[in-house]
Amino acid sequence: MISMMDEILKIKEEKSIKIFAHNYQNYEVQQIADYVGDYLELIEIAKDINCETIISCGVKSLAQTLKLVSDKKVILPVDEAVCPMNSMVNIDELINFKNMHPKFTIVSTLNSQIELKAVSDICIPTSKAVEIAEKLDSENILFVSDMNLGNYISKKVKNKNIMSWTSYCNIHDKVTKQEVLNMKEKHPNIPIIVHTQCREDVINSADYAGSTSQIIEYVKNLKDKKVIIGTETGILHVLRRLNPDKKFDLLSPTLICMNMKKTSLEDIYKCITQDKGQNIEIDEKIRLKALNSIDNMMKYLI
Ligand code: SF4
Repeated sequence: MISMMDEILKIKEEKSIKIFAHNYQNYEVQQIADYVGDYLELIEIAKDINCETIISCGVKSLAQTLKLVSDKKVILPVDEAVCPMNSMVNIDELINFKNMHPKFTIVSTLNSQIELKAVSDICIPTSKAVEIAEKLDSENILFVSDMNLGNYISKKVKNKNIMSWTSYCNIHDKVTKQEVLNMKEKHPNIPIIVHTQCREDVINSADYAGSTSQIIEYVKNLKDKKVIIGTETGILHVLRRLNPDKKFDLLSPTLICMNMKKTSLEDIYKCITQDKGQNIEIDEKIRLKALNSIDNMMKYLI
């Protein structure tokens, strides 16, 4: 009997569909995906992809971001897969801030929702956040979406006034310094690697902090055979696949983003066989403004 996985793989080829999966997706979704990566890696691929449809497995902001850079049909399999951090930003309040503080450059993370990208001057990917913030012309930056990441950037970029909007990723923010210390006591010789969306005291107690792609690169070059990871659990599938000789453990059992986990094989199957899922459409005015913030980011990545 042909499995659902095999059917998806067969039909997606027939219908010219490519499956894009975020690093935090379930194992079975990562297994059938054509591409697995972070926002920046996936948009780089989406820009030049040769297919009719992209099925975007992640949260809605990823599907919107892929739609922004690609002229293909982009489908989000599950409507409810949304990032809670996005709803912490009141766009009207942000516009108000912008009007009252014209000297501030509004910088948003690449994983922000389309409406936020549209009012931002530039988007930045987590992996290049420090590098781009350092190069920006403006002395005053309002960093929007993740205040822990904003705080991390402000400590690294000394010559700028960097303020952060009070929104955060509730998955990474939940990790505590005590969890890092407990793990260090239990496993004193195993490196602890955390995401830069964690709190400052967590980052300072860990051995390394980075974005998902930075963590992947850092781990690849580690001599240690065991590593403790402090970011969303889905990354473990990627790390195990790329480093079969290493063992990985999760820093905290709370590191599970339920929104990233909403997409199942069945949802993808329904998208390709029954036209289910949300066909991402973007208001033209918002699209042009949001695209501008992405284009501004691209100038720093060349
Ligand atoms: S891991 Fe955090 S930032 Fe990513 S989708 Fe989940 S809540 Fe949002």
